[in-house]
Amino acid sequence: MLSVECRENFEVKKLTSFKIGGPVKKVYFPASVEEFVEVLKAEPDAEVFGNLSNTLVSSDGYDGAIIITTKMAQVDITGTKVAAECGIKGPKLSQLVAKEGLSGLEFMIGFPGSLGGEVFMNASAKGQCVSDKLIKVKCYSHENGVFELKKEDMGFSYRTSRCQKDDIIILAAEFELDKKSADEIQAQMDVNLNFRKSHQPSLALPNCGSVFRNPEGNSAGRLLEEAGAKSFSVGGVHVWENHANFIINSDNGTSLDVLEIMYKMYSAVKEKFGIELRPEVRYLGGKNQREVELCRTLNIR
Ligand SMILES: Cc1cc2nc3c(=O)[nH]c(=O)nc-3n(C[C@H](O)[C@H](O)[C@H](O)COP(=O)(O)OP(=O)(O)OC[C@H]3O[C@@H](n4cnc5c(N)ncnc54)[C@H](O)[C@@H]3O)c2cc1C
Repeated sequence: MLSVECRENFEVKKLTSFKIGGPVKKVYFPASVEEFVEVLKAEPDAEVFGNLSNTLVSSDGYDGAIIITTKMAQVDITGTKVAAECGIKGPKLSQLVAKEGLSGLEFMIGFPGSLGGEVFMNASAKGQCVSDKLIKVKCYSHENGVFELKKEDMGFSYRTSRCQKDDIIILAAEFELDKKSADEIQAQMDVNLNFRKSHQPSLALPNCGSVFRNPEGNSAGRLLEEAGAKSFSVGGVHVWENHANFIINSDNGTSLDVLEIMYKMYSAVKEKFGIELRPEVRYLGGKNQREVELCRTLNIR
């Protein structure tokens, strides 16, 4: 019998940045890495999520178990080395290290990922990415149990890590940061925050960040804009007026609304430029057949 916090038929919608999603059969909230590993062993099919800021949860819910990591947020700072658990939120981590005069995670300010989600996605902004200053990751796989991977074995590239194809769970990560003055770091974080305010929707407009990856040497936002996507809306969701690579849930939108509008966006770019955009957003669901078909067409995992 597991002693880890677990909620049944949990309304996960309120935890997602999209504010979309039906009940999930079982949701675990481990409070330590030891508890996390205990749940992973007991529930080998459970999906792992952090802050659900890059995930579309089906409005029809999910029939299995998931694990939310956000209660694991311990950070150890020794000199320029920073070891952090996977559930810490990016903005909190960047502020903690900034106070110690450590530079390298300024880009994490202002977007709502957990460290685990950021390593999984190799999150990036303003010319910095998670893998830049990362040294190693403490991982778990059902095959190997707990083990470590060095940065060079993580298969990092644009918005990609090896964890996406090999089903590797991130427990914690270690960084080697650079010494800088706290003022200089704060100034960079202010620049990043101001850029965000003028170029991206705030969380007051529920969204999940960029919907599609940038094709090599191109901008998904520009292609979408030129294909007319800024005028698109479906049900309760629409493409953001200020940047065509964002979908806003403005009026109680559903996951199907999101997938249908993504299909419209994808088709418009394919028709005009012959380019097939690849989604960045991930999906949790599977009970709605139309959604499953759209995910297959759009190549969403
Ligand atoms: C307003 C806004 C702005 C954003 N701006 C940016 C940006 O500038 N740059 C950027 O890169 N992203 C951005 N994003 C997207 C998102 O925040 C990032 O992709 C982030 O890395 C996702 O973290 P998460 O914890 O929310 O992941 P989740 O949505 O919880 O999960 C995303 C994926 O990661 C996997 N995952 C999560 N934790 C773990 C773990 N511990 N082990 C293994 N797999 C795990 C999940 O299974 C899932 O497949 C933005 C999102 C929003 C809403």
